[in-house]
Amino acid sequence: MNAGSIMWNDTVVIDIDKCVRCGACVPECPAEAIYNCSNCSPECYIVDQEKCHNFDKSECQYICRDICPVEAIHKRQL
Ligand code: SF4
Ligand code: SF4
Repeated sequence: MNAGSIMWNDTVVIDIDKCVRCGACVPECPAEAIYNCSNCSPECYIVDQEKCHNFDKSECQYICRDICPVEAIHKRQL
């Protein structure tokens, strides 16, 4: 398995088809794991899987999921 394929079931992912690119999730993540990738067109929002995984979820309580107005953030299903 290469580094790019590592996945954890405690992380979240953003459904880019649902995401309306409001940016609300970015400042809410205490791990600073969500960022805006402006290389894409239209820009997209991405979760850094390693940062998310290494953060104590008892502290964040998956707040990103609750804050998203269109339910575009989901816990990763393995
Ligand atoms: S689950 Fe927690 S650490 Fe991971 S992106 Fe959401 S708020 Fe950040
Ligand atoms: S809060 Fe939801 S809709 Fe807004 S940028 Fe984040 S994932 Fe996309």
